[in-house]
Amino acid sequence: MGTAAVAATSLLPGCASSKEGKKAADDLELKISFQEGTAPGENLAEKLDFMESLGIVGFEPGGRGLKGRVQEIKDALNGRNIKVSAICAGFGGFILAEDPAVKNEFDTTMREIVEAAGELGSTGVIMVPAFNGQKPCMPHTLETRDYLCEELHKLGEFAKSCGTTVILEPLNRAEAFYMRLVADAAAIARDADSEGVKAMGDFWHMKEETSDFGALMSAGKQYLQHVHIASRGNRRMPGEDGELDNYVDGFRALRQIGYDKYVSFECGCGGDRATLVTAAVNLLRAQWEESRCC
Ligand code: MG
Repeated sequence: MGTAAVAATSLLPGCASSKEGKKAADDLELKISFQEGTAPGENLAEKLDFMESLGIVGFEPGGRGLKGRVQEIKDALNGRNIKVSAICAGFGGFILAEDPAVKNEFDTTMREIVEAAGELGSTGVIMVPAFNGQKPCMPHTLETRDYLCEELHKLGEFAKSCGTTVILEPLNRAEAFYMRLVADAAAIARDADSEGVKAMGDFWHMKEETSDFGALMSAGKQYLQHVHIASRGNRRMPGEDGELDNYVDGFRALRQIGYDKYVSFECGCGGDRATLVTAAVNLLRAQWEESRCC
């Protein structure tokens, strides 16, 4: 009991503890990242120019074909204040496939993307263990969870050797029943027992959580490696769904755990892209300010 109490307190460097902790939480920077389709522009250079004009510091490319794009991306980012944040999936097959050929396709393509992610200095490669539509899939049992943790351990150690990680993304029950909550992804990362296995939160999928704050706190700094953001009604630019698009509670958790990774746009756009992207960035910055302790 005593040990648990100490551990819980150490997760809260912000308001709950010292003056220094509060200052560190209040000073924390919001590092915004865009996926490749987020910014307007005819090509990558134009998109990155637009991103720089808004002070965006992260870029999240898709993983498909990444090996062949490493030099292109390095060249495009050279001299800019933008780094690769995370890599979004892009592999073939899936890790819980019952068919050995499909599992092998996952192993081969995922490792190729992880290697490229390491070369690009990415925080990790995002993955989902199994979408509902991916079949035949191993049954949702305790044995499967153990198998998943063992397989993730091997993959995580490989990612670590490449200087990066694999990032588990919980979705929602309509898309991937296997892993729905941030706490569940973080617990699987913990049980995989590799520093190369992490978790993330996506404000869109987090509609099933009872609390944004609780969800992100449950992963804590040790496991939370990436965050996705979108409007909360229709998965468009933050702000397009009005009052629904409140992220302050989640941002408060990011401040308290001292989250130093990226919040990355993963969303569509319901109107003029340049206008709506700019408004979304302004909204997030305003809500980030609002999420200060006091
Ligand atoms: Mg996502």
